[in-house]
Amino acid sequence: MILKKKNPILRTRLPTLPPAARSRVALGLTAAAALGRFELQQCSDCGAVQYPPREACGSCLSTQLLWKQQSGRGELLAATVLHHSNDLFFRERLPWRLGLIKLESGPTVVAHLHGAVPAAPAPVRVAARLDRAGQAVLVALPDKETTDMADDRQLREFTCDPKLRKLLVTDGKTAVGQALVKALAAAGAHLIWVGYAEPWKKFAGFEELKALPQVTLVPLDVTDSKNVRELAAEIGGKVDILVNNAECHRTFGIGNRQGVETARAEMDVNYFGLLRLAQEFGPAMRSRGADGLASAVAWVNLLSIYALANFPPHGTFSASKAAAQSLAQCLRAEMRPAGVRVVNVYPGPIDDEWNQLLLPPKVAPAALAAAIVKALREGVEDVYPGDVAQEWLERWRDNPKALERELSS
Ligand SMILES: [Zn+2]
Repeated sequence: MILKKKNPILRTRLPTLPPAARSRVALGLTAAAALGRFELQQCSDCGAVQYPPREACGSCLSTQLLWKQQSGRGELLAATVLHHSNDLFFRERLPWRLGLIKLESGPTVVAHLHGAVPAAPAPVRVAARLDRAGQAVLVALPDKETTDMADDRQLREFTCDPKLRKLLVTDGKTAVGQALVKALAAAGAHLIWVGYAEPWKKFAGFEELKALPQVTLVPLDVTDSKNVRELAAEIGGKVDILVNNAECHRTFGIGNRQGVETARAEMDVNYFGLLRLAQEFGPAMRSRGADGLASAVAWVNLLSIYALANFPPHGTFSASKAAAQSLAQCLRAEMRPAGVRVVNVYPGPIDDEWNQLLLPPKVAPAALAAAIVKALREGVEDVYPGDVAQEWLERWRDNPKALERELSS
């Protein structure tokens, strides 16, 4: 796949979005898709699986409906190609392929059809994806993975695949930053700007990063407003995906530290750093949400599972991540109208220098990087990489108090 360069004389299109109106009950589909899951309502009384989502079971009228994960396996009954649409978003993207699929679990659904799905009848796998308006839609993928599956023009409208895109990784000095850059380069990123604070100091891994053909190292200190502004002026209009992994992590609670200097340093990177980046890079990315296949598509924030519940031995760090999470939700709301997805990443303890005293299991930087690349490829909004984060997420969803108590004991 080759992306044509945009003609610089052509006006950038105003972002258009697919239709976003959904019933309240249909938001269950979106909530699951945000986590990369395909869930449909299943009746607790008669067992029927139904689509579209409704308030009551279509076969027995029971209101005991639970959202259950689906395999998505089904058969394509019929396919069609749209050459006309009254909707502005789809009109700009015609022709558009749609299919009618009978799911093994029962319902028949209409889904966006991947280019590699053969003519009907054919086995397919239906998945839920978030569209540019942040709402769940159904896509039918070929039964067997193909090597260039992610390149499909229609599928790329729903994902944030780093392949052929230009990215900024805000901190290349950390183990996580370096793992991220390598994973993104391996995923086919066209260009990766890698930020590093204090450029007068060489850091471990510098030469290795510099040797990657996609990488351009740029001085970036997210605590320096002027520096952030200058970098945004230089490259802000070209960044398709911004990955903010800059983080300051110290291991203090309240009682074992005097003064606020450490906590302030954490806030300055983890919270104000995000705010500075969002103010300077946000507007340019918003204006490029509709540049065809080379649009700005995603903004990734490295948060922490401690944003959900405080981990007292790292108490001030947890507080700064909770603040960053709240700001990231604001950023998400502001970026959504432009079709730019904000991806929040909530790892458990990372296997890095600040968690040396914690017992395993810890998330290895390479595993964290792989989870972020996967989330971009699948267009997921919230990511909880690793078993620890997954387990804590379950506990938090089940009962937030349970997680608070577990982390504090
Ligand atoms: Zn029923």
